[in-house]
Amino acid sequence: MGGVSEGDDVLARWSDGLLYLGNVKRVDGVKQCCLVRFEDNSEFWVLRKDIHSFSVGVEEVCCICDAPPLKEPLINCLKCRHCYHPECHTPSIEPEADSNSWICRQCVFAVATKRGGAIKRGRFARLMQIMKLRLPYQLSSLDWDPQHLTNQQQCYCYCAGPGEWNLKMLQCGSCGQWFHEACTQCLTKPLLYGDRFYEFQCSVCANGPETIQRLPMSWVDLAHLVLYHLSLCCKRKYFDFDHEIMSFANENWDSLLLGSLSDTPRQDRCHNLLNALNSNKDRFVSGKEIKKKKCLFGLQVRAPPPLTSDSSPLITDPPINITQRRRSEGEQWGQSHANQSGASWRHRSVLLSRSRHQVRDQPSATPSLHSKELPGIGMTCQSQSVSVWRKGSPYSQCCLFTCSSKPSLPLIHY
Ligand SMILES: [Zn+2]
Ligand SMILES: [Zn+2]
Ligand SMILES: [Zn+2]
Ligand SMILES: [Zn+2]
Repeated sequence: MGGVSEGDDVLARWSDGLLYLGNVKRVDGVKQCCLVRFEDNSEFWVLRKDIHSFSVGVEEVCCICDAPPLKEPLINCLKCRHCYHPECHTPSIEPEADSNSWICRQCVFAVATKRGGAIKRGRFARLMQIMKLRLPYQLSSLDWDPQHLTNQQQCYCYCAGPGEWNLKMLQCGSCGQWFHEACTQCLTKPLLYGDRFYEFQCSVCANGPETIQRLPMSWVDLAHLVLYHLSLCCKRKYFDFDHEIMSFANENWDSLLLGSLSDTPRQDRCHNLLNALNSNKDRFVSGKEIKKKKCLFGLQVRAPPPLTSDSSPLITDPPINITQRRRSEGEQWGQSHANQSGASWRHRSVLLSRSRHQVRDQPSATPSLHSKELPGIGMTCQSQSVSVWRKGSPYSQCCLFTCSSKPSLPLIHY
């Protein structure tokens, strides 16, 4: 496989759009993927397209097409020293660019992407905005599932990285593509898991800065969203109304951007949310119904709240009872639900997600968000005299919301 060998230090793009430092343990040229060991010693198969290597060959060849220079010399990136034909880079490199100052798309994204939203000011923010006017792939060549939530190529966003539509991504209302929170520059607050209450237009479609608008939400939407977010964060089904649901809503009230609901005094919030939970049996289960405390609530189906404007709401498939279904084999909850339609599609999708997620020789150890807390986030290190932006490991990703119901989960050991 061109450019990547065993033992190489690489940056691997994760489904959150961020790059993580790792070391290549194995290369599978047939499936076009590499087994990468991250800094916490976890190992994952990562598709070749999501790996950015630092190794620069003896011969100068373009890192996109592997060909030597044509008429003009190749341009080197100042940061990673990779060489590009001007036409192979997206967008194509301007004739006046020179190798002492030009920075490639990968390196711009490595610096500018952040949890909660990419940087908005400074040179790298401006460079990123320019890069985002074009996608480095053909949007029309992607094969989508019927609901347009996942594609077989695992290619999303401006960064062409993998993604999980229900895990902090925004869908462009014009082109339908999904974009990572970390790659967007329009958010004023971080995204909740499964929050689709935005009208968003990507930079490609807007031909300039992204546009975004918060959509109105009802109390039922809010109750559903908070429960969905908490269920992904804490990996539980039931939450205590006062101590978890209400306290999460109150602690993050301003970040939830609730529009006309945002002026509601505290005592009324409580009443409205409780009423929403008790009067929508199709969406919520209370503890009373399962012979537990009546102050507990959970989702009937672990899926993000549907948009009221959806012509075909998400919850159209036969409901999957959460208690009967264990999260397994790298499937994300919402994704497994969404993949129900179309058996052949589902098979392919699960295969792909296995190749990316599953840990070698550890079929039962399913990596999941928040399963490990790791040191080292935000540190930098030197690798082959190239600056590396170390962003922790995929496991260190954390939600930026205040949550008093911290997960108390056993660590997964590898
Ligand atoms: Zn991205
Ligand atoms: Zn080239
Ligand atoms: Zn570069
Ligand atoms: Zn778009």
